[in-house]
Amino acid sequence: MTTTPRSAESASSRTVLVTGGSKGIGRAIAETLHAAGHRVAATYRSGDVPAGVLGVECDVTDAAQVDAAFTQVESALGPVEVVVANAGITRDTLVLRMSDEDWDAVISTNLTGSFRVAKRATRGMMRARFGRLIFISSVVGLLGSAGQVNYASSKAGLVGMARSLARELGSRGVTANVVAPGFIVTDMTAELGEDLVKKYSEQIPLGRMGSTDDIAGVVDFLISDAASYVTGAVIPVDGGLGMGH
Ligand code: NDP
Repeated sequence: MTTTPRSAESASSRTVLVTGGSKGIGRAIAETLHAAGHRVAATYRSGDVPAGVLGVECDVTDAAQVDAAFTQVESALGPVEVVVANAGITRDTLVLRMSDEDWDAVISTNLTGSFRVAKRATRGMMRARFGRLIFISSVVGLLGSAGQVNYASSKAGLVGMARSLARELGSRGVTANVVAPGFIVTDMTAELGEDLVKKYSEQIPLGRMGSTDDIAGVVDFLISDAASYVTGAVIPVDGGLGMGH
Protein backbone atom coordinates (compact mmCIF):
# COMPACT_ATOMS: atom_id res chain seq x y z
CA MET A 1 0.00 0.00 0.00
CA THR A 2 1.25 3.47 -0.82
CA THR A 3 -1.20 5.34 1.41
CA THR A 4 -0.51 6.69 4.87
CA PRO A 5 -2.74 5.01 7.48
CA ARG A 6 -5.18 7.43 9.10
CA SER A 7 -6.80 6.98 12.47
CA ALA A 8 -10.38 5.76 12.26
CA GLU A 9 -11.19 8.66 14.59
CA SER A 10 -9.66 11.24 12.27
CA ALA A 11 -11.99 13.91 10.88
CA SER A 12 -10.79 12.77 7.46
CA SER A 13 -11.94 9.21 7.94
CA ARG A 14 -14.96 8.83 5.68
CA THR A 15 -17.77 6.38 5.04
CA VAL A 16 -17.28 5.16 1.49
CA LEU A 17 -19.34 3.04 -0.90
CA VAL A 18 -17.56 1.56 -3.92
CA THR A 19 -19.65 -0.15 -6.60
CA GLY A 20 -18.15 -3.24 -8.24
CA GLY A 21 -15.75 -4.02 -5.40
CA SER A 22 -15.46 -7.74 -6.10
CA LYS A 23 -12.50 -7.49 -8.45
CA GLY A 24 -10.25 -5.32 -10.56
CA ILE A 25 -10.14 -1.57 -10.05
CA GLY A 26 -13.07 -1.42 -7.59
CA ARG A 27 -11.50 -4.06 -5.37
CA ALA A 28 -8.17 -2.21 -5.31
CA ILE A 29 -9.94 1.05 -4.46
CA ALA A 30 -11.84 -0.63 -1.58
CA GLU A 31 -8.62 -2.21 -0.26
CA THR A 32 -6.63 1.01 -0.45
CA LEU A 33 -9.30 3.14 1.22
CA HIS A 34 -9.81 0.57 3.97
CA ALA A 35 -6.04 0.46 4.60
CA ALA A 36 -6.07 4.27 4.75
CA GLY A 37 -8.52 4.18 7.68
CA HIS A 38 -11.84 4.85 5.98
CA ARG A 39 -15.03 2.89 6.71
CA VAL A 40 -15.54 1.11 3.41
CA ALA A 41 -18.43 -0.80 1.89
CA ALA A 42 -18.31 -2.35 -1.56
CA THR A 43 -20.95 -3.91 -3.74
CA TYR A 44 -20.61 -7.30 -5.36
CA ARG A 45 -22.77 -9.46 -7.59
CA SER A 46 -20.49 -12.49 -7.58
CA GLY A 47 -17.35 -13.29 -5.59
CA ASP A 48 -16.47 -11.40 -2.44
CA VAL A 49 -15.01 -8.11 -1.24
CA PRO A 50 -11.64 -7.49 0.48
CA ALA A 51 -11.20 -8.36 4.18
CA GLY A 52 -12.36 -5.56 6.48
CA VAL A 53 -14.70 -4.13 3.84
CA LEU A 54 -18.48 -4.43 4.26
CA GLY A 55 -19.87 -6.39 1.31
CA VAL A 56 -23.34 -5.53 0.02
CA GLU A 57 -24.95 -7.48 -2.78
CA CYS A 58 -26.18 -5.10 -5.46
CA ASP A 59 -26.82 -4.95 -9.18
CA VAL A 60 -26.60 -1.29 -10.21
CA THR A 61 -29.08 -1.83 -13.06
CA ASP A 62 -31.80 -2.22 -10.40
CA ALA A 63 -32.77 0.98 -8.53
CA ALA A 64 -34.39 -0.99 -5.68
CA GLN A 65 -31.15 -2.91 -5.10
CA VAL A 66 -29.17 0.35 -5.10
CA ASP A 67 -31.55 1.82 -2.53
CA ALA A 68 -31.33 -1.31 -0.35
CA ALA A 69 -27.51 -1.31 -0.54
CA PHE A 70 -27.34 2.29 0.69
CA THR A 71 -29.78 1.54 3.51
CA GLN A 72 -27.61 -1.41 4.57
CA VAL A 73 -24.42 0.67 4.52
CA GLU A 74 -26.05 3.57 6.37
CA SER A 75 -27.23 1.34 9.18
CA ALA A 76 -23.89 -0.47 9.49
CA LEU A 77 -21.40 2.36 8.92
CA GLY A 78 -23.33 5.65 9.00
CA PRO A 79 -24.26 8.15 6.26
CA VAL A 80 -22.39 7.61 3.00
CA GLU A 81 -19.98 10.50 2.48
CA VAL A 82 -18.09 9.18 -0.54
CA VAL A 83 -19.37 7.25 -3.54
CA VAL A 84 -17.06 5.66 -6.08
CA ALA A 85 -19.19 4.71 -9.10
CA ASN A 86 -16.93 2.05 -10.58
CA ALA A 87 -19.15 -0.85 -11.70
CA GLY A 88 -18.86 -1.26 -15.43
CA ILE A 89 -19.04 -3.70 -18.32
CA THR A 90 -18.11 -3.89 -21.99
CA ARG A 91 -20.08 -5.39 -24.90
CA ASP A 92 -17.66 -4.61 -27.71
CA THR A 93 -18.51 -5.02 -31.37
CA LEU A 94 -18.53 -2.90 -34.51
CA VAL A 95 -21.49 -0.55 -34.82
CA LEU A 96 -23.20 -2.45 -37.64
CA ARG A 97 -23.28 -5.54 -35.44
CA MET A 98 -24.15 -3.74 -32.22
CA SER A 99 -27.62 -4.75 -31.05
CA ASP A 100 -29.94 -2.55 -29.03
CA GLU A 101 -29.37 -5.03 -26.22
CA ASP A 102 -25.57 -4.49 -26.38
CA TRP A 103 -26.19 -0.76 -26.24
CA ASP A 104 -28.77 -0.88 -23.44
CA ALA A 105 -26.78 -3.24 -21.21
CA VAL A 106 -23.69 -1.02 -21.26
CA ILE A 107 -25.59 2.26 -20.83
CA SER A 108 -27.75 0.84 -18.05
CA THR A 109 -24.74 -0.42 -16.08
CA ASN A 110 -22.07 2.20 -16.74
CA LEU A 111 -24.09 5.40 -17.14
CA THR A 112 -27.54 4.89 -15.60
CA GLY A 113 -26.04 2.73 -12.82
CA SER A 114 -23.73 5.63 -11.90
CA PHE A 115 -26.69 8.03 -11.98
CA ARG A 116 -28.64 5.72 -9.66
CA VAL A 117 -25.90 5.59 -7.02
CA ALA A 118 -25.09 9.30 -7.27
CA LYS A 119 -28.76 10.24 -6.96
CA ARG A 120 -29.30 7.95 -3.97
CA ALA A 121 -26.24 9.45 -2.24
CA THR A 122 -27.08 13.07 -2.92
CA ARG A 123 -29.79 13.79 -0.35
CA GLY A 124 -27.62 12.64 2.59
CA MET A 125 -24.60 14.51 1.26
CA MET A 126 -26.57 17.73 0.88
CA ARG A 127 -27.91 17.36 4.39
CA ALA A 128 -24.38 16.81 5.72
CA ARG A 129 -23.06 19.62 3.54
CA PHE A 130 -20.24 17.27 2.57
CA GLY A 131 -19.84 14.69 -0.14
CA ARG A 132 -17.45 13.28 -2.69
CA LEU A 133 -18.79 11.71 -5.89
CA ILE A 134 -16.17 9.95 -8.00
CA PHE A 135 -16.98 8.42 -11.36
CA ILE A 136 -14.68 5.88 -13.00
CA SER A 137 -14.79 6.74 -16.69
CA SER A 138 -12.19 5.75 -19.30
CA VAL A 139 -9.66 7.27 -21.67
CA VAL A 140 -11.92 6.11 -24.53
CA GLY A 141 -14.75 8.37 -23.34
CA LEU A 142 -12.89 11.29 -24.89
CA LEU A 143 -10.66 9.51 -27.43
CA GLY A 144 -13.37 7.30 -28.92
CA SER A 145 -12.69 3.67 -29.71
CA ALA A 146 -13.64 1.57 -32.74
CA GLY A 147 -15.84 -1.30 -31.59
CA GLN A 148 -16.86 0.48 -28.40
CA VAL A 149 -19.59 2.92 -29.45
CA ASN A 150 -21.74 1.87 -26.48
CA TYR A 151 -18.89 1.85 -23.93
CA ALA A 152 -17.29 5.12 -25.06
CA SER A 153 -20.71 6.84 -25.05
CA SER A 154 -21.36 5.65 -21.51
CA LYS A 155 -17.96 6.87 -20.34
CA ALA A 156 -18.25 10.26 -22.08
CA GLY A 157 -21.68 10.61 -20.47
CA LEU A 158 -20.08 10.37 -17.04
CA VAL A 159 -18.17 13.58 -17.75
CA GLY A 160 -21.39 15.51 -18.39
CA MET A 161 -22.97 13.88 -15.36
CA ALA A 162 -20.10 14.75 -13.00
CA ARG A 163 -19.78 18.32 -14.25
CA SER A 164 -23.54 18.92 -13.95
CA LEU A 165 -23.49 17.52 -10.41
CA ALA A 166 -20.46 19.68 -9.61
CA ARG A 167 -22.49 22.74 -10.61
CA GLU A 168 -25.69 21.62 -8.86
CA LEU A 169 -24.11 20.56 -5.59
CA GLY A 170 -20.99 22.67 -5.18
CA SER A 171 -22.68 25.17 -2.89
CA ARG A 172 -23.59 22.25 -0.57
CA GLY A 173 -20.00 21.12 -0.12
CA VAL A 174 -20.33 18.20 -2.53
CA THR A 175 -17.64 17.65 -5.18
CA ALA A 176 -18.01 15.48 -8.28
CA ASN A 177 -14.98 14.31 -10.22
CA VAL A 178 -14.09 11.82 -12.93
CA VAL A 179 -11.12 9.47 -13.01
CA ALA A 180 -10.32 8.32 -16.54
CA PRO A 181 -8.13 5.21 -16.50
CA GLY A 182 -6.20 4.09 -19.55
CA PHE A 183 -5.35 0.41 -20.09
CA ILE A 184 -5.28 -1.22 -16.66
CA VAL A 185 -4.45 -4.87 -16.01
CA THR A 186 -7.76 -6.47 -14.89
CA ASP A 187 -10.19 -9.16 -16.07
CA MET A 188 -11.74 -6.57 -18.39
CA THR A 189 -8.50 -6.25 -20.38
CA ALA A 190 -7.36 -9.87 -19.88
CA GLU A 191 -9.04 -10.91 -23.10
CA LEU A 192 -6.72 -8.68 -25.13
CA GLY A 193 -4.08 -10.86 -26.78
CA GLU A 194 -0.35 -10.38 -26.19
CA ASP A 195 0.06 -8.67 -29.58
CA LEU A 196 -2.67 -6.15 -28.83
CA VAL A 197 -1.23 -5.38 -25.39
CA LYS A 198 2.16 -4.76 -27.07
CA LYS A 199 0.54 -2.53 -29.71
CA TYR A 200 -1.37 -0.49 -27.11
CA SER A 201 1.65 -0.24 -24.82
CA GLU A 202 3.67 1.27 -27.67
CA GLN A 203 1.15 4.12 -27.83
CA ILE A 204 1.42 4.84 -24.10
CA PRO A 205 4.15 7.38 -23.29
CA LEU A 206 4.97 5.54 -20.06
CA GLY A 207 5.27 2.34 -22.11
CA ARG A 208 3.22 -0.02 -19.95
CA MET A 209 -0.31 -0.88 -18.94
CA GLY A 210 -1.40 0.54 -15.61
CA SER A 211 -2.10 -1.30 -12.36
CA THR A 212 -5.26 -1.13 -10.27
CA ASP A 213 -3.19 0.57 -7.54
CA ASP A 214 -2.43 3.41 -9.99
CA ILE A 215 -6.16 4.19 -10.00
CA ALA A 216 -6.75 3.57 -6.29
CA GLY A 217 -4.06 6.09 -5.30
CA VAL A 218 -5.75 8.86 -7.28
CA VAL A 219 -9.15 8.06 -5.76
CA ASP A 220 -7.54 8.17 -2.31
CA PHE A 221 -6.25 11.66 -3.12
CA LEU A 222 -9.65 12.81 -4.41
CA ILE A 223 -11.38 11.98 -1.14
CA SER A 224 -8.65 13.53 0.99
CA ASP A 225 -8.84 17.02 2.47
CA ALA A 226 -6.06 18.02 0.05
CA ALA A 227 -8.58 17.70 -2.81
CA SER A 228 -11.36 19.77 -1.23
CA TYR A 229 -11.08 22.48 -3.95
CA VAL A 230 -11.14 19.98 -6.84
CA THR A 231 -14.51 19.54 -8.54
CA GLY A 232 -15.72 18.95 -12.09
CA ALA A 233 -12.26 17.63 -12.95
CA VAL A 234 -11.46 14.80 -15.33
CA ILE A 235 -8.24 13.21 -14.11
CA PRO A 236 -6.54 10.94 -16.63
CA VAL A 237 -4.63 8.01 -15.13
CA ASP A 238 -3.47 6.52 -18.39
CA GLY A 239 0.30 6.78 -18.68
CA GLY A 240 -0.20 9.69 -21.08
CA LEU A 241 -2.29 7.77 -23.63
CA GLY A 242 -5.05 10.37 -23.90
CA MET A 243 -2.97 13.54 -23.70
CA GLY A 244 -4.58 16.55 -25.31
CA HIS A 245 -8.14 15.55 -24.55
P1 NDP B 1 -13.76 -5.87 -13.98
O1 NDP B 1 -14.52 -6.55 -15.04
O2 NDP B 1 -12.52 -6.49 -13.43
O3 NDP B 1 -14.72 -5.54 -12.74
C1 NDP B 1 -15.96 -4.92 -12.96
C2 NDP B 1 -16.70 -4.80 -11.66
O4 NDP B 1 -17.97 -4.21 -11.92
C3 NDP B 1 -16.94 -6.14 -11.00
O5 NDP B 1 -16.79 -5.99 -9.61
C4 NDP B 1 -18.39 -6.41 -11.34
O6 NDP B 1 -19.05 -7.19 -10.37
C5 NDP B 1 -18.98 -5.02 -11.35
N1 NDP B 1 -20.22 -4.95 -12.09
C6 NDP B 1 -20.42 -5.17 -13.41
N2 NDP B 1 -21.72 -5.02 -13.71
C7 NDP B 1 -22.35 -4.70 -12.56
C8 NDP B 1 -23.69 -4.43 -12.21
N3 NDP B 1 -24.69 -4.46 -13.11
N4 NDP B 1 -23.98 -4.14 -10.92
C9 NDP B 1 -23.00 -4.12 -10.00
N5 NDP B 1 -21.72 -4.38 -10.26
C10 NDP B 1 -21.40 -4.68 -11.52
O7 NDP B 1 -13.45 -4.42 -14.57
P2 NDP B 1 -12.35 -3.32 -14.21
O8 NDP B 1 -11.96 -3.44 -12.80
O9 NDP B 1 -11.32 -3.38 -15.26
O10 NDP B 1 -13.20 -2.00 -14.45
C11 NDP B 1 -13.73 -1.22 -13.39
C12 NDP B 1 -14.19 0.11 -13.97
O11 NDP B 1 -13.08 0.77 -14.57
C13 NDP B 1 -15.24 -0.05 -15.07
O12 NDP B 1 -16.18 0.99 -14.98
C14 NDP B 1 -14.42 0.08 -16.33
O13 NDP B 1 -15.19 0.54 -17.40
C15 NDP B 1 -13.39 1.10 -15.91
N6 NDP B 1 -12.19 1.08 -16.71
C16 NDP B 1 -11.38 -0.02 -16.79
C17 NDP B 1 -10.25 0.02 -17.58
C18 NDP B 1 -9.32 -1.14 -17.71
O14 NDP B 1 -8.37 -1.03 -18.50
N7 NDP B 1 -9.48 -2.21 -16.97
C19 NDP B 1 -9.90 1.21 -18.34
C20 NDP B 1 -10.79 2.31 -18.18
C21 NDP B 1 -11.89 2.24 -17.39
P3 NDP B 1 -19.31 -8.77 -10.54
O15 NDP B 1 -18.06 -9.36 -11.13
O16 NDP B 1 -19.60 -9.21 -9.16
O17 NDP B 1 -20.44 -8.87 -11.49
